[in-house]
Amino acid sequence: HIEELKTFINKSTETADGKKVMLAANIGGADEAAKAVKDGAEGVGLFRTEFLFLNKNALPTEEEQFEEYKKAAVLTKGMPLTIRTLDIGGDKDIPYMGLTKEANPFLGYRAIRFCLDRVDIFTTQLRAILRASAYGCIRIMIPMITSVNEVRQVKELIKKICSDLDRNGINYDKNIQTGIMIETPAAAVMADTLAKEADFFSIGTNDLTQYTIAVDRCNENVAYLYSAFNPAVLRLIRRIIECAHNAGIEAGMCGEAAANALMAPILLSFGLDEFSVSTGKVLETRKTIADWSIKEAGLVTDKVMSMVTEKEVTDYLSDYISERN
Ligand code: PEP
Ligand code: MG
Repeated sequence: HIEELKTFINKSTETADGKKVMLAANIGGADEAAKAVKDGAEGVGLFRTEFLFLNKNALPTEEEQFEEYKKAAVLTKGMPLTIRTLDIGGDKDIPYMGLTKEANPFLGYRAIRFCLDRVDIFTTQLRAILRASAYGCIRIMIPMITSVNEVRQVKELIKKICSDLDRNGINYDKNIQTGIMIETPAAAVMADTLAKEADFFSIGTNDLTQYTIAVDRCNENVAYLYSAFNPAVLRLIRRIIECAHNAGIEAGMCGEAAANALMAPILLSFGLDEFSVSTGKVLETRKTIADWSIKEAGLVTDKVMSMVTEKEVTDYLSDYISERN
């Protein structure tokens, strides 16, 4: 099996009938970028930057962050490197920030909400990312968006930082793209509007599932409900990709569902442009995608979208796939 997977290392990612998609990796630090490239990823679809802020006693400086992002940019050798801005709060606390404990941290002071409140911290990170963008093909990605207002505020701030860099003669990629994660039901519902403000979408199914079904992703008592195959989640995913394409932007997915073999035909049929998976799953995902033609994926997906429970969907997909092998 491992030998067979290795044959996929230098191949492009395409379906059995030749439709190419982008296959990227999720990383949690610059060092992992090297592993992503070695594994045959075509870029990084999600660079989680939380690690720079966790397990420390103080905020990382602009210089520390710049070095880390630059290292990742150099290691990815000009392939797209999607850096997600700070996503703390929720289940990730930063002890030295002295944040107040909340009854519902996943519904609270998290990610972009924290960043737009602490513009000092956000500016430092964005400046570091922009400076690093001179060394590779960096894209900025904003987590936990719930409204068009947040996207506008972020773009305004980026513009301000760029003018400042210009004034000081500091290099950065003037065509840098700013995309957003679609991982809340509000963002999914407003995807048509958001697609006009963002350069790309990346679907965060880990959170989108939790918020859509109202199931805490860390609570074992309700874990049996937590599934991206829930028809409500599938309908949102379809809508998000459709809205992206109607506005002429690309839609990727960086939640765990992107690496799920049962999910592949659905995502291919919906027209997902980029699959971003953890580094260990790159080759397996490339092989899975090669197993499907768009036509067969479409037939399976038509059937799936006529189903009304998660169990029907997953039973049907597992049976279909095991019978075909
Ligand atoms: C997601 O929510 O799907 C995602 C990729 O982000 P995280 O798991 O870091 O919240
Ligand atoms: Mg998320």
